[in-house]
Amino acid sequence: MKNIRVRFAPSPTGPLHIGNLRTALFNYLFAKKKKGSFIIRFEDTDKERYIKASEKHILNSLKWCGIQADEGPDNGNYGPYRQSKRKHIYKKYVKYLLKKNYAYYAFESKDELKQIRTEYKDKGKLFIYNYSTRKNLKNSFNNCYYNQIKKKQTKYIIRLNVPVSKTIKVYDLLRGNISINSNVIDDKVLVKSDGNVTYHLANVIDDHLMKITHVIKGEEWISSFPILHVLYYYFNWKMPKFIHLPLILNSFGKGKLSKRNYNKLNIPIFPLKWKDPIKLKTILGYRELGYFPDALLNMLALFGWNPGCEQEIFSLKELIATFSLKDINFSSARFDKQKIDWINHRHLQSRSIDELTRLVKLCLNEQKIYFNNDKTIKQIILRIRSQCTFVYQIIEKAIYFFKKPTLKKNYIKKQIINIKITKKILFLIIEWFNNYDKNNLKLLRLFLAKLAFKKNIKIHYFLKLLRLSLVGKLVGLEILFIITKLKTQDIIKRICNVILLLN
Ligand code: GLU
Repeated sequence: MKNIRVRFAPSPTGPLHIGNLRTALFNYLFAKKKKGSFIIRFEDTDKERYIKASEKHILNSLKWCGIQADEGPDNGNYGPYRQSKRKHIYKKYVKYLLKKNYAYYAFESKDELKQIRTEYKDKGKLFIYNYSTRKNLKNSFNNCYYNQIKKKQTKYIIRLNVPVSKTIKVYDLLRGNISINSNVIDDKVLVKSDGNVTYHLANVIDDHLMKITHVIKGEEWISSFPILHVLYYYFNWKMPKFIHLPLILNSFGKGKLSKRNYNKLNIPIFPLKWKDPIKLKTILGYRELGYFPDALLNMLALFGWNPGCEQEIFSLKELIATFSLKDINFSSARFDKQKIDWINHRHLQSRSIDELTRLVKLCLNEQKIYFNNDKTIKQIILRIRSQCTFVYQIIEKAIYFFKKPTLKKNYIKKQIINIKITKKILFLIIEWFNNYDKNNLKLLRLFLAKLAFKKNIKIHYFLKLLRLSLVGKLVGLEILFIITKLKTQDIIKRICNVILLLN
């Protein structure tokens, strides 16, 4: 069988959106499953919309997700992998199309076209630059412009000469046969007035020269499918197989998942944070919000792909092993924030304890907390992780192990029965910690029981005081476990802080 070659071909006009990441993922999964090649190609023909930082964002996002390209801007035998560096290649193909009359020169400026469109609209008609209008417009079909073409005095563009009254049949692996009458297609611009080729032409030439076998892309591209078909036909090239993936819709209402969803619904839409180079506003991504990259991929895989089994949690390796193009769904997937959080929660539960320890330490270091007792961290993780969706929540829930709590006077005062008696009790407890081994829990329990009897106060109250002192609030893991994990001097200091607060 022919070596499978697929490509992810983003236009660097902004940050990588998770919809496009899903496209990259499906290409990657298919390539890896089939032991083929996954290629990255930057489609940077649109100079007006080009954003330099975008390329970096796309590459870093893929890297963070562990999606590694076999060929791309940095390596590969079919390069260059940036369309801006392939201009010399396209020239020959443009010449061929012109020679064969498959393409033609046209001379309208943008403003002129705008005016024509408005005139049509005023008459209640839609303007299409094609067989029905081209003979009356400024182009090589029209003799009076012949000289201009010859001398090339005027700025020109080159358009595709779409065949007249033909039924164009395309085949999509998901949708099957799609037929369209060529008369409704416009003569797409192939070369712009600045000499740069446009998306359609570059896309077809590159896919052919890079020996792409399967084109997997978003549904938003389906309208250009017949145009690509005409170009393949004119070049007499075999078309790769095409599959257009269903859209990812936002969780509420209608429409694609977009930046507005982030602003309004707090749904992240980029894998990594993006700093808008013009507005200088930063939008956080999945990484910054604490999601695991493989949880994000797991979620994206389930948008449009049905594994055909009960399993919902997949590692990247498992996705590769299970993935198949024939299990791609036809209907659009709706974004579900609760589901992604649940998936992240599940991934956190299945992470190895060593990795979680490393991640917790990293998170602590970011807060300038350097805690090196791995054994303690592991014990904490084992007790806390089932309540957590994100690594940072482990730290939030266990922060009192790593730094002294901030005490809230009013809150503490509300929890105690009598200041004088409470202070006395706290002094007695300090005395005990000064004289005995804090890890001798049996002895500690006995001491508290005796104290309870002597003061005629329930032992529960002493445990509450210890919790308020060590944690700052009435939450957290078992108090005796906390005591074994804190240093005696820190326990005493924290109890002293409560006494000071009560003064
Ligand atoms: N360059 C297109 C984009 O920005 C990709 C189209 C394709 O994959 O053919 O998404």
